[in-house]
Amino acid sequence: MFYEKGSAKEIMKASKMLISTLKEAPQEAKIDSHVLLLRAGMVKNQVAGVYQFLPLGLRVLQKVEKIIRQEMDNAGSLEILCSALQPKELWEESGRWNKYGPDLMRFTDRHERDFCLGPTHEEIFTDLVRNLVKSSKSLPLNLYQIQTKYRDEVRPRFGLMRSREFIMKDAYSFDKDEAGLEASYQLMYDTYTKIFTRLGLHFQPVLADTGNIGGNGSHQFMALSDIGESEIVYCDSCGYAADVEKATDQLIELPKEKELDLEEVETPNQRTIEEITKFLGIDAKKTAKTLIYHDYANEKLVAAVVRGDREVNEIKLVNVLNSNENYLELATDEEIRSIGSYHGFVGPVGLNIEVYVDLEVAQMSNFVVGANKLNYHLKNVNFGKDFKGIVKDLKKVQANDLCPVCGKPLSQERGIEVGQIFKLQTKYSLPMNCVYTNEEGKNVPMVMGCYGIGVSRTLQSIVEQYHDEAGICWPLNVAPYHVVIVPINYADEAQKDLAEKLYEELSKSVEVVLDDRNAKPGFKFKDWELIGIPYMIICGKRSAEGIVEFKVRAGLEKSEVEYSKAIQNVIEAVKHI
Ligand code: ATP
Ligand code: MG
Repeated sequence: MFYEKGSAKEIMKASKMLISTLKEAPQEAKIDSHVLLLRAGMVKNQVAGVYQFLPLGLRVLQKVEKIIRQEMDNAGSLEILCSALQPKELWEESGRWNKYGPDLMRFTDRHERDFCLGPTHEEIFTDLVRNLVKSSKSLPLNLYQIQTKYRDEVRPRFGLMRSREFIMKDAYSFDKDEAGLEASYQLMYDTYTKIFTRLGLHFQPVLADTGNIGGNGSHQFMALSDIGESEIVYCDSCGYAADVEKATDQLIELPKEKELDLEEVETPNQRTIEEITKFLGIDAKKTAKTLIYHDYANEKLVAAVVRGDREVNEIKLVNVLNSNENYLELATDEEIRSIGSYHGFVGPVGLNIEVYVDLEVAQMSNFVVGANKLNYHLKNVNFGKDFKGIVKDLKKVQANDLCPVCGKPLSQERGIEVGQIFKLQTKYSLPMNCVYTNEEGKNVPMVMGCYGIGVSRTLQSIVEQYHDEAGICWPLNVAPYHVVIVPINYADEAQKDLAEKLYEELSKSVEVVLDDRNAKPGFKFKDWELIGIPYMIICGKRSAEGIVEFKVRAGLEKSEVEYSKAIQNVIEAVKHI
């Protein structure tokens, strides 16, 4: 609480709260939660992807953090706080200085020393632990922090969802062996489940790719939402769920047809799969498309071949190439020309670069591909006979593909990645020599895990799931205040007296605001509905009789009640959070 109880002077008055609600949504805001955070005056935009938290927003942030802290502490993790500034040398030790890509905000100080602003803290925590922990008696160890991260995102957008400076809870576990890591990982999985449940989010844990962090096992926690940037596939039958970046499927075995002779067909100006299938009167499943990529990490052009109606899963391709998603781009028309082909007519036959072929394409028969010749395609193409390549799982799994575990059709939905956990194993401890001495007196690398929650992204995800036409509907345990008292006319003696009496009583046990502003009642109601305070007590005409209006934000239900009943309602609700 920010005030002294019982003293009228320190009453939390709306007129002094820097309430800065906006009528109109600022132009840059495209999704409801972003619009509402700005309109409700929770946050303010500075430059692209950089936000300031205002008093109301900060209160919510601190409550989200408190829940995260409680659960991390319960799991035995120790809180520390590290610097955002990180020296280049540590990133060279892990091998990530060059590999991380342009998201890493690098700079040079006045002494010509290179630094970055931490996008994540594997290097720092590994360095701390290698210096602090000598004995295996200190293991297992789990350390966490809630701290500001920096990533120079290509497209910062959707407010706090994808910003360039954001708040993350990151934790790192250090174990003696694999079995220890398994236990630490499971504990964090369970802890995340508790955190997101307490935050009221509808979420789904899914299998995930390990991206820039590395390691060999990972889950993401997805807040389910149509505006989510992540796609998830899941199986209703067996519970398999994965990010599409990671998802695999069970191939339907196709009967092998008799291989026919390769044939060149003229296809003037028919470039897309849609045009080709229409022109030749065939199904897209009888075509394959060949995409040329420029892999900047390994400085080469490569081809990826998937069935015509499929998309390349670029994350799978990045992993196959041992590249980085920030370093892989589709080739330009000129680059396609440099390998003797033409945009819209690229095919794998006779290509003089590395060709990666999707598993599905490898078992197709007599299909159509580009002929690497302007206005021509090839018919009756077969892998093995007409072209060779490295066969890998490259396609993006989609709805109705078969579950890799049980073979039933998969469903698809969208999610916001609010957290991710990784089994790092010795990816950092080995190169950085973070070791402990075992019973035989040998130095062995610690087995690590890392665990992130996007705190500011989580806050906005709550808004995405809890809002209506009028504004935000905060769950009670993260709302900036539990209840607001709104006298229709604060200058009216009876209303003022009752409002202050209510304030006095409520402030003993709940977080309460008194709206003392000299404004029209409709204006005040709208403000609080936009801000999303869970309960409103309105002191109006019947104040002299001790009757108030009690309004619940979620659903906007109103009832006339005795003022003591209104107090009791709020106290009772707050008791249960
Ligand atoms: P994304 O795929 O969305 O870019 P990421 O997988 O790179 O995220 P992690 O390295 O797993 O992110 O970071 C841990 C958590 O931090 C993420 O689960 C996410 O909630 C949050 N996060 C990551 N990038 C951002 C960002 N630019 N703005 C806000 N939160 C972010
Ligand atoms: Mg992630």
